[in-house]
Amino acid sequence: MFLFNRNFQRLPGNYLFSTIAGKVKEFKEKNPDKNVISLGIGDVTQPLTPTIIEALHKAVDEMGNAETFRGYAPDGGYDFLRKAIVEKDYAPKGITFDEDEIFVSDGAKSDSANIQELFGSNTKIAVTDPVYPVYIDSNALAGRAGVFDAIEEKWTDVIYMPCTEDNCFAPQLPGETPDVIYLCFPNNPTGSTIPKSELQEWVDYANTMGSIIIYDAAYEAYISSENVAHSIYECEGAKTCAIEMRSFSKNAGFTGTRLGFTVVPKELEFGHMKLKDLWARRQGTKFNGAPYIIQRAGEAVYSEQGQKEVKGLVSYYMENAKLIREALESLGYTVYGGVDAPYIWLKTPDELSSWEFFDRLLEGANVVGTPGSGFGPSGEGYFRLTAFGTHENTKEAIERIKKL
Ligand code: PLP
Repeated sequence: MFLFNRNFQRLPGNYLFSTIAGKVKEFKEKNPDKNVISLGIGDVTQPLTPTIIEALHKAVDEMGNAETFRGYAPDGGYDFLRKAIVEKDYAPKGITFDEDEIFVSDGAKSDSANIQELFGSNTKIAVTDPVYPVYIDSNALAGRAGVFDAIEEKWTDVIYMPCTEDNCFAPQLPGETPDVIYLCFPNNPTGSTIPKSELQEWVDYANTMGSIIIYDAAYEAYISSENVAHSIYECEGAKTCAIEMRSFSKNAGFTGTRLGFTVVPKELEFGHMKLKDLWARRQGTKFNGAPYIIQRAGEAVYSEQGQKEVKGLVSYYMENAKLIREALESLGYTVYGGVDAPYIWLKTPDELSSWEFFDRLLEGANVVGTPGSGFGPSGEGYFRLTAFGTHENTKEAIERIKKL
């Protein structure tokens, strides 16, 4: 008789977005005539841009020709894409990497879930609260985080770094020393960022304590403030303490196309072990490379025209963010985020809980958002709206909220 992996029982119920989808489905079944607008899940709505489509078509044609056909991709990515990343994402900021420090993947979700495999079973992790659930659930599935305390709604044996109004949603250096620290800026779900000087403090702390920072920069394309770093490697000493993850999902609209990468600098060592070699070994064992066609599309993102188009997409969504922010503020809501990030983090009115506000918005305005409490206990009393809708839907949702 087989035994199942008991760690699954330690996960809290459903993944947050499955619960939301279930509630929306139930509402639609009861109200088939209602048009529900989703500003909930962080999925994009705008199509891939012409330069990307052209690169995809070209690569598809290559696959149909014996001379240019490609089979398995290299585990770490094709040289053409790794080179483009090194030259276009990092070199202009004076950051140098070899191509073999870049690991191309199918996105930042899998990388941020898989990266914990590099660390020992007793590794102590620190996460922000609220947090992108993948960091903590993946550690739990690996048997690492203690147990889920359903009353406190917290994992035991995990260091929580509360991000609240009092600290402007910026985590404070923890009292207890973690081995691995997960940071995400611009942040999902709060939409907050920290100045480069504050990120430097984290880097200094990690280097002093011998901790590793897992830096999720999936939303870096949304940064407009001058004093916010696009990469953790803009901070001095980050190469000896940080792994960075990036995604093509939110800047170029690859949520359905799937592409991302992780940077593991060669300076990251434990004794004589280089983490870069461990990650290469891990990927070689469990990953057979991102598809050639998609990597060519990724390369096109870095072309001059590709960059213009991608900037257009980001501006499109940030216009939505501005509309939502301003409308909610004019209605008297307390609103955060939406400046360097496509997420608006609002305080629920009338002391409603996050899920009560979810119900009020769904039933009263037929608009779907994400309850803040789903991201951690400090998210209770908050609610996340995304700017990833179409302009039309965003405006319509705002009108409905105004009427509500
Ligand atoms: N990291 C964060 C913080 C996210 O919010 C998301 C998606 O919502 C991801 C990673 C996933 O990115 P990808 O589509 O590249 O898997």
